[in-house]
Amino acid sequence: MHFVFPPKPAAAVPVAGSDQLFPVHRIYCVGRNYAEHAKEMGSSGREAPFFFMKPADAVLPVAHGSIGEMPYPSMTQDLHHEIELVVALASGGKNIPAAEAVKHIWGYAVGLDMTRRDLQGEAKKLGRPWCTGKGFDHSAPISPIHPVGATGVIEQGDIHLDVNGALRQKGDINQMIWNIAETIEQLSAYFELQAGDLIFTGTPAGVAAVGKGDLLEGSVAGVGDLRVRLV
Ligand code: MN
Repeated sequence: MHFVFPPKPAAAVPVAGSDQLFPVHRIYCVGRNYAEHAKEMGSSGREAPFFFMKPADAVLPVAHGSIGEMPYPSMTQDLHHEIELVVALASGGKNIPAAEAVKHIWGYAVGLDMTRRDLQGEAKKLGRPWCTGKGFDHSAPISPIHPVGATGVIEQGDIHLDVNGALRQKGDINQMIWNIAETIEQLSAYFELQAGDLIFTGTPAGVAAVGKGDLLEGSVAGVGDLRVRLV
């Protein structure tokens, strides 16, 4: 047996400071995981986390020190930025207890969960899926992945995003409603996690629209930076 045409190589993200690539299995995203952002999106209190996905090949890897170019997507008038800490898994499983979650972490990256907010809003209103709002091509710009051995376990630290040099989003990793270990626990109750999975862990308050030509500069303390221009 053989493939009817050659399969595409796995989507991959470079590993910081090496010539290695991290092969991406799936991209999971956590919704509303910082209280101030949950409020700005219209919720209150500590609700159970919810998840959505992007296709693995939605990653747009940006090399260290360079500015990635993200094409402004079609079918939207309201493209939003969401700066996020991304967790890369070395291994997985089902029903992983929070106390054991950290040993499944391969490393961390800085990512943008780019969102066609108008399409997402319409989907919410009509009870439809979020694929067109969240899972479009190039919707996941991402920095190189930094191995946990180099960063240590990330549980706190500044996360922020500037647009054209002005601060737009700011928070601290310790403000997550569901921390990384709890997120892995809950996510692994729904899905069998695997090596190569990326988890976008949610965004702090301050999401807003960006347009062609805008420069997005994000950073997570202890992890790194991500710079992207919309073209
Ligand atoms: Mn998000």
